Amino acid sequence: MAFPSKTAALIATLLISPALSNAQDAATGGAILFTNVDIFDGVNEALMQDVSVLVTGNTITQISSDDIAVADAQVIDGSGYTLMPGMIDSHTHLMFSGITFAEVLFQRPGYGMIQGVVIAEQTLMNGITTVRDMAGDVFDLKRAIDEGTVPGPRVYPSGAMISQTSGHADFRLPVEPNPTITGKMTVPGQKGAGLVVDGVPLMLAAAREQLRLGASQIKLAISGSVSGINDPLDTTQFTVEEIEAAVAAAENWGTYVTVHGYNARAVNQAIDGGVKSIEHGQLLDEATLQRMAKEGIWLSIQPFTLCNEPGLTPDQNAKQAIVCEGTGKVYEAIKSLPDLKVVHGTDIFISPGKGIGVSEEVEQLERLLDWFTPYEILKMTTGNATELLQLSGPRNPYPGVIGRVEVDALADLLLVEGNPLESLDAVTDRDNIKIIMKDGVIYKNTLN
Ligand SMILES: [Zn+2]
Repeated sequence: MAFPSKTAALIATLLISPALSNAQDAATGGAILFTNVDIFDGVNEALMQDVSVLVTGNTITQISSDDIAVADAQVIDGSGYTLMPGMIDSHTHLMFSGITFAEVLFQRPGYGMIQGVVIAEQTLMNGITTVRDMAGDVFDLKRAIDEGTVPGPRVYPSGAMISQTSGHADFRLPVEPNPTITGKMTVPGQKGAGLVVDGVPLMLAAAREQLRLGASQIKLAISGSVSGINDPLDTTQFTVEEIEAAVAAAENWGTYVTVHGYNARAVNQAIDGGVKSIEHGQLLDEATLQRMAKEGIWLSIQPFTLCNEPGLTPDQNAKQAIVCEGTGKVYEAIKSLPDLKVVHGTDIFISPGKGIGVSEEVEQLERLLDWFTPYEILKMTTGNATELLQLSGPRNPYPGVIGRVEVDALADLLLVEGNPLESLDAVTDRDNIKIIMKDGVIYKNTLN
């Protein structure tokens, strides 16, 4: 059935895209030439020495140890500096990082959005040019960033985390009715933070709803959590049939499912159900990690090494202590599993104060030094994530290579003082990050 033409015209007007974004303007603008730089390309441990890199529009178009001659290019002399990919936080929550737990659950969404805008800029200024957002109604913030209205990283949104009754996202008050039984959505559900569903039909609807909103991947909670109120860490959440339903919905849209999961039983069931990526994994055993390496399942893990956090309740902190102990064990295991695909994420949320979450981004990178070399850490935050981002297939909001300095990659670049592979200070001390470029646009330049 066709719409009457006037209705169709009205809808077209309502949905029409806003004016061209700053990023798009820049993409058609002039070239930027970095000269005399050393390059960490995101993958190789050896720096490329003393080369020139040409950025045209939003793309790296030439890398050469010979001089590159381009008329009208802005030339940046990078002598003594290292050019590296913008960093990728593979597990973040932009909408929850600047507010408290109570505000996530019970307050109206406006304040959280305002804080999200601030956090997005601070995240970019930490040198993080891309995030996978692992729960939260981040779609409007992503849009404003992509349009160039506000500064921030590229965002791969998951939308609401999908959870079962008594699962990780079931943050109801004790008196609140069950949404699956009553059909009445929880407040976090209404706010797009976390949906509670049971059974295959509701799982399909919940996953498809996130895809409708623009999710680049679907996030399920399949095991107990630290922050959850009624979900012990050892629990397995959802059945394999429910997980398979979400996977089918995602794969029908060309993308994938990732899961919040700590324990081995739950994670193995999720892998059986077809998920491609595990968020957290701090309680996994060696056999499961080996299975993941063998089957190409991603591990998106965070250095949860604070065993007691000020923003958590005593019950939550008791669970945090268990996860904290597991973190080191899994990092040790990773070291002996070279085939396991590992990316670094922060999972910063429910920050107890303004900006605290964002400074934790830096601290978390430093915590990894207890287990990994700067090279290993930076690879987990750059080149390792390239392939993971590609899993979004046609739902990838930023088609192209992200996380690498190579010809035809998107121009997300940091120019840093010193060699970051020798000292992580080159990126963790923000003063050492001289230039931050995203999509060919310079957002920070303190050179000179
Ligand atoms: Zn998270």
